[in-house]
Amino acid sequence: MELVLHPGLVERTVFEAARRDGTLRAHYERQFAQCYGHASSAQRERAFAELHRRWFTELGLDQLLVGFVRGFPHVHEQVCRLVVARAPAPRAQTSELYGAPGRFTIVLTIAPTLMLDRSAFDYWAGHELLRIDDMLNPAFGHRPGEQPVGHTSAAQALMTDRFALLWAISIDARLERRGALPRTVRQVRTGELARAFALNDPGAISTALDDLWHDWAGSPPTHSQLIHLARTGLAVSDQSAVQSSVVARPPAGALCPLCRFPTFDWTDSSPELEGLNGVICVDFPDWSPHEPICSRCAEVYRAGARRRQNTSTRVSSPLAAAGNPRSD
Ligand SMILES: [Zn+2]
Repeated sequence: MELVLHPGLVERTVFEAARRDGTLRAHYERQFAQCYGHASSAQRERAFAELHRRWFTELGLDQLLVGFVRGFPHVHEQVCRLVVARAPAPRAQTSELYGAPGRFTIVLTIAPTLMLDRSAFDYWAGHELLRIDDMLNPAFGHRPGEQPVGHTSAAQALMTDRFALLWAISIDARLERRGALPRTVRQVRTGELARAFALNDPGAISTALDDLWHDWAGSPPTHSQLIHLARTGLAVSDQSAVQSSVVARPPAGALCPLCRFPTFDWTDSSPELEGLNGVICVDFPDWSPHEPICSRCAEVYRAGARRRQNTSTRVSSPLAAAGNPRSD
């Protein structure tokens, strides 16, 4: 695999490494000053670039990147080029897979501080490369065109979030086995799972995460299984939903089962909403019509129903149909 390093990443990482270590810093400053000895500016620029590239290698960072990739068999076998550029901050880091079989390229943008923090690097890079490894693994069955769907943008966003979270959990479960999972991650995923599936019962949330984690650590899910689970929800969420709906409306500030925002204004599943249950259930198969939803979600579905009604009225008019033969 060819390794392409952007000079901005190389220079900034070396600078940061020297800044942190008094001994390195003295060496670096002396060699940096020597670069000014070149007569032309082009020569000086070349000398600075060579200095930083040499130091990057001597700090073991080329080897870190190349050696790390070997831990991901499908990436190692199928990716021809690894391009690493600088991200301004850890939050802005990205990873992308480009190309096609025989000419795949991975582009990582990494913050220089992460390059120098081995455990943080192991988790971030491990998570990103395992995701790409899944994409390249025939057993995962990645189909980029197959995305979660829904009638409203809220439903689409929710399914997309659930899919991404479930995939992330399957990756984290495997990273834990490799000893590359920071202790705080599992707690973060617990909160994310509760929001994504509108689980309000701490016991149910913890059981749901434990079950997924246990199942997926040794036997990761396929793309289709993740899509299916994002759509149908977790078995445990049905339990908590039924319990909460039968007993009483959820407490103020509990999460709406559709949009997952804390809710103080509930709409009960009244006769008024009955005509909408079918459409809501298509978007949220794990929602039970007995469960209250927030008044904002209720209004979104009422508006959708009004829109559909208006459209069908217009199209059923012979004049409208004649003027717009492709309407359906
Ligand atoms: Zn809602």
